Order: sequence, then C-alpha cells, then structure tokens
Amino acid sequence: MCRHLGYIGPAVPVREPLTRGDHSLRTQSWAPNEMRGGGTINADGFGVAWWRDGAASRYRNPMPIWSDPAVDEVLPQLRSTAVVAAVRSATAGMPVSREACAPFVDGAWAFSHNGVVQNWRTTLAAAHSLELEAPTDSAALWLLLRDSLATAEPAAAIRAVVNTVLAVAPDARLNLLLSNGEMLWATTCYHSLSVLVDDASVTVASEPVDDNSDWQSIPDRSVVIAEPGNLAIESL
Ligand code: GLN
Repeated sequence: MCRHLGYIGPAVPVREPLTRGDHSLRTQSWAPNEMRGGGTINADGFGVAWWRDGAASRYRNPMPIWSDPAVDEVLPQLRSTAVVAAVRSATAGMPVSREACAPFVDGAWAFSHNGVVQNWRTTLAAAHSLELEAPTDSAALWLLLRDSLATAEPAAAIRAVVNTVLAVAPDARLNLLLSNGEMLWATTCYHSLSVLVDDASVTVASEPVDDNSDWQSIPDRSVVIAEPGNLAIESL
C-alpha cells in the first residue's frame, strides 16, 4: 500500500534517498517487506520532491520507478538538503495517473499518504472536488491538510486532519508524511514507519532501507516530528 520516504540532511543528489541501501525505496517498489492491508508491489507510479530556494519542486511518473531512466540519468544531477519520495500502489477504484502520484506540493510543502480512506467522496466531502488534483483519497487529504496548515502549526494540522478523518471513517489508514524542506512530520495509523536520525540527518521511511540497527520502528497511532539531531514521537 504505497511506500514513502523523507530525508533532511546534508545536500545529496536527489536520486540518492531513492536508491540508497539494500532495501531502498526503489527496491521496496517491487519487493516491500511490510505491506499491510492488501497490495503486493508498488508499480502504479512514483514521485519525488526536492527543495530549491525554499520552494518544493517535483517530478512524477505513473509508470513503475524501476522503469524510468530519469532516476539514474537526471535525478543525480539535482542536489537538495531535503527529499520526499513515494512509490504508489493505487487503491482499487482509484486512477493510475501522474496527478494521483504523491508527493503533492504547494509552495514549500510536500505531502504523501500511505493508506486508504474508505468511501472518501463522502467522508472527505469537505475537500472541494473541483480543486482536487486527482480523484483520490490522498488528493482530498492533501486539500484538507493544506487548509489546516493555513491556520495551525504543522504538527497540530496533521494531527487534526487524522483525528477528523478517523471520527467519520474509523477504519481509515492514514500514514501521512509532510515536509517544508527543513523538518518532517509523519503519522502512523495502520501502516509501518521507521526513522533513522543522527546529528546531521534524519530519514523517515515506511520500511528501513538498510540493516542499520539505529532504525527506530514507530508505534501505531503516533505523530513523528523530526529534523537532523531531533526526533519527537507523540501519540496521535
Ligand atoms: N489510496 C491512495 C492512492 O490510491 C494511497 C494508496 C496506498 O497507500 N497504497 O493513491
């Protein structure tokens, strides 16, 4: 059910967080270890955001990440101190299209969702359908979060969106990942998530990308607030 990853740290080629490790995000697209709730591979596209002068830029493709030569031929030429990336396994009934691939971006913000909101057209009706980039639960969640970010701090905004959605859709699966290029905010609601933090960098990922024993597995129903050298894990 989709895998995502966020990195903040020393500038790296944008390809690196996607391909780093024996169990990189790219490997997780065809051989994930911790898929829960259906889905076997993440072949319905991918996307990556990076930051320049405080604004998020983005590249997406509805084809599998392993089939796109831009990952090896173009992304190494871009450098960034922050990257958010996702590989997608489209929920049944949702389109396979470039517009449906995370990350969703707006200004400095980049957002990814791993999970599903059942009957999202009803339960997320507050997200105005005309503004949706794609007819998916994730695009609707992004509209709700974007609105919430206009008036609340990021941790409060992400928590509010998850709790509001759970109130009307208690079985929703809501692993959200948000960054402004300087910090990462993430939630766990049903799906797996791990964090690797040291003084210089932090990586938040659906699955550890290597066997480094410093990866911390995040308990379900948590909010993660992370930057290099700092990790806070709060309950939702
Ligand atoms: N429901 C979202 C979509 O279809 C996310 C899918 C997932 O996490 N597998 O894009």
